[in-house]
Amino acid sequence: MASRFLLLTFIFIATCAQEDVDETMEAFSGYPDPSHEIHQIPSFTVDSLNLQKQIDEVASFSDSPPPSVTRILYSHNDVVARRLSASTFIKNLMGLAGLFVREDAVGNIFGRWEGSEPDVPAVSTGSHIDAIPYSGKYDGVVGVLGAIEAINVLKRSGFKPKRSLEVIMFTSEEPTRYGISCLGSRLLAGSVSLAKALMQTVDNANISFLDVAKSVGYAENEEFSNVFLDEKSYSAFVELHIEQGPILENQGISIGIVTAIAAPASIKVDFGGNGGHAGAVLMPQRNDAGLAAAELALAVEKHVLESGSIDTVGTVGNPVFCILEVHPGAINSIPSKSHIEIGISPKLFVKEMP
Ligand SMILES: [Zn+2]
Repeated sequence: MASRFLLLTFIFIATCAQEDVDETMEAFSGYPDPSHEIHQIPSFTVDSLNLQKQIDEVASFSDSPPPSVTRILYSHNDVVARRLSASTFIKNLMGLAGLFVREDAVGNIFGRWEGSEPDVPAVSTGSHIDAIPYSGKYDGVVGVLGAIEAINVLKRSGFKPKRSLEVIMFTSEEPTRYGISCLGSRLLAGSVSLAKALMQTVDNANISFLDVAKSVGYAENEEFSNVFLDEKSYSAFVELHIEQGPILENQGISIGIVTAIAAPASIKVDFGGNGGHAGAVLMPQRNDAGLAAAELALAVEKHVLESGSIDTVGTVGNPVFCILEVHPGAINSIPSKSHIEIGISPKLFVKEMP
């Protein structure tokens, strides 16, 4: 599925490139003027073999065995995939593409191709490389490496942009470690509450976000508000992303355009009940914290199914104990405490495509 996706996305049909002439993407492609004079129509395709090799190499930086990929935020493999590997690291590929590379305090990585009008808001594209436990190798990665290769294609074709083009690798799109999704992009958008919260945030092993960010070379000034970008930084953003579900594949459709935005949120819930010996405390007298959490899990499913939105999803999980964390966690002891984590992605709006 991924290869079809890539090939169809990155076939560029362009007008004859003229040396030393800055072009808009519209003029370059011939869109939207149907009478655009076409002297020659070279077709540009990605170096798909090399791109696949890069994707495979990034997939090797994983905490789980192939073909799965597990790459958790700021883990050794995450850091290696970003910048330590000799041949595949993201910053190096951006540099080889001739981009001006910078990293911010949270590890968002930017590769910029300066346009002839650098003060005009840029056009940006990119994705993430952190990977949920046992994910596939294309999730996020195809949007980062694909974007860099798209820049390479444009350069090979002789395109010279007026607007700057920028590739972004966002830090922690996935909420796996700290329960916060789109962490890097939310900071770029200027989330003051997130910048403050990150000073106190810890993972399930009680490792603070700030400490681990510092340990891998970020958060030098021990703050994150310096990640915020001016709202006029970009005029447009587009992300290439593999389909993570079976809908397009089942329908034999090679590529889709996103028309709705999900608003992922996570909730952590702790229950307190009364413990006791499982063989002696009868059911009517129990206050079972484990079952309370189980009932909440089922209520999440019921609520989502009844929401009327086919795109709204709810998931219950726990990074350590799979579904529920119960204390003391024995078959002969009534749980006195339980912990459950809920992820919700409601559909926010749908915009009709022209
Ligand atoms: Zn993704």
